[in-house]
Amino acid sequence: MILDWNDIDRWLMGEAWVGSRILSHLQELCDRIGPRWASTPEEREAAEYIRGQFEADGLADARLEEFELQTWSYDRATARVQEEDGPSIPILPYLWCPPTTVSGPLVDIGFGTAREIAEAGARLRAGIAVVDPGLEPFTTPVPFPIRLQAIAKAGARAVVGIDRKTGGRLEFQPAIDWRRHRIDPHPAPTVNVSRETGLYLRRLSGAGKNLAIEVESRFYTAPAANVLAELTGARWPDRHIVLGGHHDTVWHSPGGNDNASGTAVVLEAARVLSRLAREKGIRPGCTIRFATWTAEEQMLQGSTAYVRRHYGTEKLPLLMVNLDELSTGNMKGVILQFPHLREFVQQQLDSMQGGLVCHVMSQMDAWSDHFSFSLRGIPSAILWRWRFFGRYPEADYHHEHGDTLDKVRVRDLKEYAGLLSRLLLRLSQVPPGDWPPSAVEPRTVEEQIAREIGTIHRTFH
Ligand SMILES: [Zn+2]
Repeated sequence: MILDWNDIDRWLMGEAWVGSRILSHLQELCDRIGPRWASTPEEREAAEYIRGQFEADGLADARLEEFELQTWSYDRATARVQEEDGPSIPILPYLWCPPTTVSGPLVDIGFGTAREIAEAGARLRAGIAVVDPGLEPFTTPVPFPIRLQAIAKAGARAVVGIDRKTGGRLEFQPAIDWRRHRIDPHPAPTVNVSRETGLYLRRLSGAGKNLAIEVESRFYTAPAANVLAELTGARWPDRHIVLGGHHDTVWHSPGGNDNASGTAVVLEAARVLSRLAREKGIRPGCTIRFATWTAEEQMLQGSTAYVRRHYGTEKLPLLMVNLDELSTGNMKGVILQFPHLREFVQQQLDSMQGGLVCHVMSQMDAWSDHFSFSLRGIPSAILWRWRFFGRYPEADYHHEHGDTLDKVRVRDLKEYAGLLSRLLLRLSQVPPGDWPPSAVEPRTVEEQIAREIGTIHRTFH
C-alpha cells in the first residue's frame, strides 16, 4: 500500500486538534483525582482511568502491570528555633528523609563548598548546616549529593537546604544523584526551607541559635502499576516503538506540567493513531506500545520494573520516546540519548516540514524514565524540557502544589499529539532491518555514568 502522507498528516493534525480530549484528561488527572504519589489510592485511580481510556479508544491489550514498589511517606515535618517564641518554621523533608529528631546550633555554610566546610570546622560537628544547594559561581561545580556527603562527614546532624524559588515556594528534592539508580540513605537527614526562611535561618546562625527538627516518616513496600496498551503493527508486529510518560506525582502536587501533560499526550497519540487505523485502514508498520509509568518520582521504579520484566526475553524496542513536562515549551524536536539514530530521525522530521530538530545529549540524563531504557542500551529520547533552550520563562512548576492545571497549555499539547503521531507513524513504516543498528551495550553506559557522576549535568543550570 502506497501511503499518501499529505492526506495522513492532514487527518492526524485535524483529529489531534478538533477531536482533542487533552483538556478532559487534564481535568480528570489534576482536578478530580489530584496528587498521585505512586502506591496511593489516587495514583491507582489514575492508572485505572488511563487503562479505561486506552480500552475505550480501541487499543489492544490495555492492562496494568503490577510490581512491588519501595516507597516512602511522611506524616509530619516541623522545625522550631529553640529559645524563641516564634511560630514553627515550615519545612519539607527531602524525598526519602529518614525519621528524625535532632537539634543543634545553626551553622551557615554558604554553598557547602570544600572551603566553606573546612572553614566551619568544629562548629559543624553536631550542628545543623544551612546550605544553598545551588552552584557557587566561581569554583568547580560539585553536585549537591556529593556536597551533602562532605557536610555529613564533617559531622553535621542534619542539613537544611534553601529552595532557590522565591515567595515561600517549596519543592520536593532528592538528596541522591539519580545516575546511581538506587535509593541510598541520606548522608545526613535533609530538609528544605523556602528562600525567605533560609535567609532568616542564616541570620539566626550568626546569632548562635539552635534549631530543632522533627520528621515523622516511614519506608515500606506497596504494589504499584504501570499502564500499557498497544497498536499492533500490520507488517512487523513483533518489533515495537515505545511512547511513554509517567502518570505519578510527588506528594501534594496535582502534577499538571509534571506530568499530566505527558500522560495526556500519550493518551491522545494512542487515540488518534488508533482512530486512523479504524477509519482509514492505515495501521503502523511495527507495533507502537503506549505506556504510562508509575513511580517516576521515586527513582524511576515503574519504568525500571517494566524494562526488567520485558527486555530479558523480548526484542528490544527500536526506540523509546519519553514525554515529561511538556508544558515548558512547544514542540521543537527530539533529543536522543545515543547518537546512532540522529540522521535517521532527522530525515523523518524533515519529511514533516515543521522545522523540527533532532539533537543528541553528550551526557547521560538520569532525570526521567528514558534513563531506565538507556541503562539497558535501548535507544531513548526525550523532548525539550524546562532545562533546555526555548522554554517558557514562567514554566518552572513541577514538584510542588502549585503545579496545577492552569500551568498547562492545552493548545501546545494538541500540537505535540499531532506531531508525535505523525513521527511515530513514519518511524513505524521503516522496515526494522533498515534502522541503523544500535551498538550501545549496558556496560558502555555504566562506564559513561561512572565518568560523569562527579560532574554537574550541563543542561541543568
Ligand atoms: Zn516528571
